[in-house]
Amino acid sequence: MGNFIEEIIEKDLREGKVKEIVTRFPPEPNGYLHIGHAKSICLNYYGTAVKYGGKCNLRFDDTNPVKEDDEFVQSIINDVKWLGWQGDVYFASDYFDIMYETAVKLIKKDKAYVDDITPEQMHDLRGTLTTPGTETKNRYRPVEESLKLFEDMKNGKVADGALVLRAKIDMASPNINMRDPIIYRVLKATHHRQGDKWCVYPMYDFAHPIEDAVEGVTHSICTLEFEDHRPLYDWVLKEGEFKNPPHQYEFARLNLERTIMSKRYLKKLVDEKFVDGWDDPRMPTIAGMRRRGYTPSSLREFCERIGVAKANSEVELSQLESCIRDELNVTADRAMAVLKPLELVITNRPDGFRETVSVEVNPNAPEKGERKVEFSNRIYIESDDFSLNPPPKYKRLVKGGAVRLKGAYIIRCTGCDEENGEVKRVYAEIVEGSKSGEDNSGVKAKGVIHWVDADTAVDMKVNLYDSLLLPYDGVHEEFSQRLNPLSRVTLNAKGEAELGKARPLTSFQFIRQGYFCRDSKSEGVVYNRIVSLKDGYKK
Ligand code: ATP
Ligand code: MG
Repeated sequence: MGNFIEEIIEKDLREGKVKEIVTRFPPEPNGYLHIGHAKSICLNYYGTAVKYGGKCNLRFDDTNPVKEDDEFVQSIINDVKWLGWQGDVYFASDYFDIMYETAVKLIKKDKAYVDDITPEQMHDLRGTLTTPGTETKNRYRPVEESLKLFEDMKNGKVADGALVLRAKIDMASPNINMRDPIIYRVLKATHHRQGDKWCVYPMYDFAHPIEDAVEGVTHSICTLEFEDHRPLYDWVLKEGEFKNPPHQYEFARLNLERTIMSKRYLKKLVDEKFVDGWDDPRMPTIAGMRRRGYTPSSLREFCERIGVAKANSEVELSQLESCIRDELNVTADRAMAVLKPLELVITNRPDGFRETVSVEVNPNAPEKGERKVEFSNRIYIESDDFSLNPPPKYKRLVKGGAVRLKGAYIIRCTGCDEENGEVKRVYAEIVEGSKSGEDNSGVKAKGVIHWVDADTAVDMKVNLYDSLLLPYDGVHEEFSQRLNPLSRVTLNAKGEAELGKARPLTSFQFIRQGYFCRDSKSEGVVYNRIVSLKDGYKK
């Protein structure tokens, strides 16, 4: 059985109420898109338009000139296309004439009037959930007078905020949104597409249904906060006399654990330079997640797994991470990188000793293959893979102990150099006859560790990431009090030569470490950790 949106659509198609499904994704261009928007795109495009052979418009809801910017328009188009969306791009601002005409029509029908109410008065006269609102004297202003004043508003003869146009609905309505809401305001601002043409701008609740109607949208899908606005949506379409009016349906927005999901606040992080930009790999923006190494298919998979619900809830981060982990497990090449390098010298081979060994490209890919890796008498191992005081059950290298070097030999540790209690260099001998794949040494090594040849290794910076927010402690509600100072930790690592040649945005599994993606913006060799190998949130 499908989700409730699918049920509605299938019924409408069955009953012949609609011929072609038309949906829209209507971002306001006041920031970059985030993972919550991805959910909306997946629902409106893949889950609806594609599934039922209809179409999904990308429509910029650019009715508020103050916060909008062309950079955001471009980034949104780019991100939506990256997710796989195809369709037509529209701008709500292109419908300003129709909106204005509709407002005039409402005034003529005595369904709207010009008021001089201030925001404070508006608030005071609105009433409460239990008491009705109070009518203003201007509610009974003659139609001709409102028409004239609205024209003055449009023509720039009225100061910002001095007059508003209000719908004339019902001040006693139990739904506060229906108590003569403001539908137009005066605002002398420059619009990113319309320039200074307009001095009046429509309010969202008035503009949105008209935008949907003009485009022939059949199913206008939005988040639950708009449920109480639906009567107003329907009122505007009815009184505006739009044919084949669209219908609004609400679903639960995506909330992700420890994740900021508001463009306004994400903008703050960018403006106050807490992050390096909208595409900082820590950002839950589509641009940030792309740079981090998420793929369109992994985001779609995530949206599919979490489903579409009618009640708000919070999704665990591990659910998002398992989608990319599952995908990369099959698609990412394996490589060796040492994140905290410790030098290891093999003493039973001469200086200049050099060999190539083979490691599997990806044991979980449909096509198997092997890759050559340089090996010599000087390598780096992970400093955590050697211990002077091994805890119980330690399977890695200890003095006198043996481990297998992945794809190469078993080595036995013969000693190390120490300085102030810190291990500076480890010495080991190859166990003769123990080469991987042709081992006849009879020696058993408990552990297998990764390594990198010292001569051919590339120096790389590796960024390890954690959420931008610390877990909620029950006290600090404000995001600004929960910012995680360790959301990025950068390590000076060593990687096998291959890693220095990879193209930006290529992802690898660093054996035993996790999935990493080559950064697309930095100079030098920089890798970003996408996810660790195992779910780090499980305790
Ligand atoms: P923000 O507060 O981040 O700006 P918004 O809802 O104001 O979010 P819009 O640009 O108006 O942002 O959103 C475009 C579309 O994306 C809307 O239809 C909205 O319902 C949807 N959307 C936004 N956030 C989420 C979310 N967290 N989950 C699902 N859909 C979302
Ligand atoms: Mg918004």
